[in-house]
Amino acid sequence: MGSDQTLHHHHVLLVSFPSQGHVNPLLRLAKHLASKGLLATFSSTHHIIHKIHKSTGHVQPIDIGGGRLRFESFTDGWEDHDDPRRSDLNVYIPQFQTVGHDSFVQLVKKHSESGTPVSCIISNPFIPWVSDVAAELGIPCALLWVQSCFVYSVYYHYFHNLASFPTVDQPNKSVELPGLPTLESDEIPSFLHPVYSPDKRVLKDVILGQFKNLEKTFCVLVDSFEELERESLKPLLSSAPIIRPIGPLYKWKEEKDVRGDMWSAAEECIEWLDSKPVGSVVYVSFGSVAVLEQQSMEEITRGLLNCGQPFLWVVRPPPKESSKGGGRLPDWLVQQADGKGLVVQWCPQERVLAHPSVACFITHCGWNSSMEILSSGVPIVAAPQWGDQVTNAKFLTDVYGVGVRLLRSENDLNTFSSERVANCIVEVTKGPKAEEFKKNALKWKKAADDAAREGGTSYNNLDKFVMEVQALKQ
Ligand code: UDP
Repeated sequence: MGSDQTLHHHHVLLVSFPSQGHVNPLLRLAKHLASKGLLATFSSTHHIIHKIHKSTGHVQPIDIGGGRLRFESFTDGWEDHDDPRRSDLNVYIPQFQTVGHDSFVQLVKKHSESGTPVSCIISNPFIPWVSDVAAELGIPCALLWVQSCFVYSVYYHYFHNLASFPTVDQPNKSVELPGLPTLESDEIPSFLHPVYSPDKRVLKDVILGQFKNLEKTFCVLVDSFEELERESLKPLLSSAPIIRPIGPLYKWKEEKDVRGDMWSAAEECIEWLDSKPVGSVVYVSFGSVAVLEQQSMEEITRGLLNCGQPFLWVVRPPPKESSKGGGRLPDWLVQQADGKGLVVQWCPQERVLAHPSVACFITHCGWNSSMEILSSGVPIVAAPQWGDQVTNAKFLTDVYGVGVRLLRSENDLNTFSSERVANCIVEVTKGPKAEEFKKNALKWKKAADDAAREGGTSYNNLDKFVMEVQALKQ
């Protein structure tokens, strides 16, 4: 392996907000850029790189195709990896902004001094200050938007005051936007609602900060594909900067399986799935952040047991400081579920969704999971919590036709019963409606495959981006 200085590649520095839902698409993009001959440095906080190293062993440079992938970290100001204050976004984000800015500047400068100057920085939502750093240092900056084009469009129209949104006086106002179906007030990203998600208000500010900083960005890459979002994209085509859908990022062929899991994945669940009949298993996961109310955990448990199908459930241990006290598996399940279900703390979700035994997915509709669903052909029961998940759930069910909604947002957590859980599972797995969901899901799977394969829309969009990077000053 040559040294980084002797490779003479263009150097792209990717920066990920410290959470699994941002790490995955950024790392996937970093791998693809390396495979196209670039030097791609994936960076995030010390905390995240430490967790990835612990659970996957990766952090050494890896040669992929003609290029190289490297990992680097910078401080967010929290020296203690287990500091519970990390999970309070209202405390964490402002500090990350101040300390992160300075330590990231040092990281970029270090590269200039050590002979691998950065040609392009790729930023990520929730860290608008990265494009400030790029502008200060005179380095071109792109953004990987890790949500959908339709959600980008909602924020875009909100930021530029181009449509009316719910207000304190009219909290139930629906929203009309070009290219999008009418969105009810609980179907817009919840951070834009005057009442919902009060504890996450800081996220509204950072996302809108991103839109304010778009003038410092030459391109917005999106982990989605054109065939899925034609209507949402139309009104954005004349807006700057240029938008290039390049997803589903996880679909691209890889020579090397480099994963960014923050927890070790329970590989044994694949063997467990092998032992189950085709199309029989209900897969359940609410992603890496959401913590369900305890009552919801109980209802889902009863619903799973009542419907009688085998289930694989990812239950993340709730954070110690979780104020809600929820998110725990009911004690009685451990006895009753014996043989019927498998509960794990983290699984290799892409492989699970690709497994023929999986019948459906009860999902919180995070955008990474949504992309993985749409490219795996698996029908869903949607249980969104907040943010873009509520809009994703609307599209997955009403627009893309791949399932039903168990709930619309965290505001109806108390409205669903175990009977409703069981009925939703039956609705998406048995009978003529289920056949329709499956047919639609397989249609999107094919469209996703076509977009990502050589000559497909996403493949070509990524190539265009790589050419732009190669034309930049080295
Ligand atoms: N994931 C996984 N194993 C699990 C649960 C989730 O690998 O047991 C991955 C999943 O494939 C997705 C990411 O974690 O890529 C979660 O991102 P998403 O946007 O769906 O939700 P978030 O965690 O950001 O709420």
